[in-house]
Amino acid sequence: MITKPKGTMDVYGIDAKKREYVNEILRSVCNKYNYNYIETPIFEASELYHRGVGEDTDIVNKETYTFKDRGDRSLTLRPEGTAGVVRWFIENKLYGNITEPTKVFYNGKMYRYERPQAGRYREFTQFGVEFIGSDDILADIDVISVAYNTYNLLGLKNVTIVLNTLGDQDSRDKYRDALIKYFNPLINSLCEDCQKRLKSNPLRILDCKIDSDQDLLKKAPKIIDYLNKESLTRYNNIKEYLELMDINYQEDFSLVRGLDYYDHTIFEIIADVPGLGNIALGGGGRYNGLIEKLGGPNIPAVGFAMGYDRTILAMDNSNVNLKLRDDIDVYIMYVSKTEKETAAYLLQDLRLNGFITETDYLNKSLKAQFKSIERLNPKYLIILNDQDLKENKVTLKDNLTKEEQKIEINNLIDYLDTNI
Ligand code: AMP
Repeated sequence: MITKPKGTMDVYGIDAKKREYVNEILRSVCNKYNYNYIETPIFEASELYHRGVGEDTDIVNKETYTFKDRGDRSLTLRPEGTAGVVRWFIENKLYGNITEPTKVFYNGKMYRYERPQAGRYREFTQFGVEFIGSDDILADIDVISVAYNTYNLLGLKNVTIVLNTLGDQDSRDKYRDALIKYFNPLINSLCEDCQKRLKSNPLRILDCKIDSDQDLLKKAPKIIDYLNKESLTRYNNIKEYLELMDINYQEDFSLVRGLDYYDHTIFEIIADVPGLGNIALGGGGRYNGLIEKLGGPNIPAVGFAMGYDRTILAMDNSNVNLKLRDDIDVYIMYVSKTEKETAAYLLQDLRLNGFITETDYLNKSLKAQFKSIERLNPKYLIILNDQDLKENKVTLKDNLTKEEQKIEINNLIDYLDTNI
């Protein structure tokens, strides 16, 4: 038997409906903020992620699915959505005549070679927004509030924005020096990767999955003490605006994000979920340097991404009452050839008029069709019989009250419209 690859999943039935539900909420929130939907390729030139996400990140170093295609090009299955959107922005020279920022949202499959566990897969779905072309803190707040409002609309309580800043380049350079000074004498206590990171990118040490519980990481210098005046003012302004907009946040100066391209605001969305504790549902931040790093002009941007899997896990564990539409409006029953022809006509008519309509596709007996109805639980049954059809009528049964009536075919849609 061929089974699905490790860390992937098949999504169907109620799980698929939950995803559709989350998707609908996300789309409707994005519409209100005037973000436009974008699709970018699932694979991109490997170089995009090496340059964009960063060589020292786990995502690029250890987790990418990289392969050569038949034309000997090195391609990588996307591990995240931002780099692709930025590539699109640069490739289409959308920076040419900026009078308005570019605001887009995406959702799609991402790929990371991680150790699978609850809420962590090798193929997973992310939703994200990117706000390109504004350095104003209102853009940061816009993105944070999309995330915050979405989770509230999804019915998750106890959602907090965990906030930190990485400051500007000048602040980060000073912080980097402080980290090198602090970690240098402790180098032997760090994992092998972090020993390398101390030379290449000491900030990454703070984000190490192996060393993260170590006391020496917790006691490491904090970025807030190394921010220059502008960066600190900016950070304080962000907090002020979050308060103004009633967005629940807490500061965490040890927060670093798993990608290299952030500066200034970084944040994660954490939910306190029964049975799971505090879990990160999504995260994002400002990435003012990325567009230039990928060959475009110096244009500021901010974005965030969230995972569907963890969001749904959190909703399940929080017993969120989903208003899922998984019921059928009408089930059409038939036996004879003429009844079947009418069934085909009615299926078309009802579906075109917006009713969720089912029928029998297996030439079942009437008795067996009644069995199917028990499982599908439609609101109405249309029971066709040749006698009724001669008078252009059908038998319509309310499946809840069990009341039956004969109704003219011409009046069927009107009747169902008023009663469903
Ligand atoms: P990141 O891009 O790492 O900041 O992740 C943003 C969000 O995507 C996380 O908070 C998760 O909800 C989700 N996510 C990241 N990696 C995975 C994964 N391997 N499996 C499922 N969801 C993930």
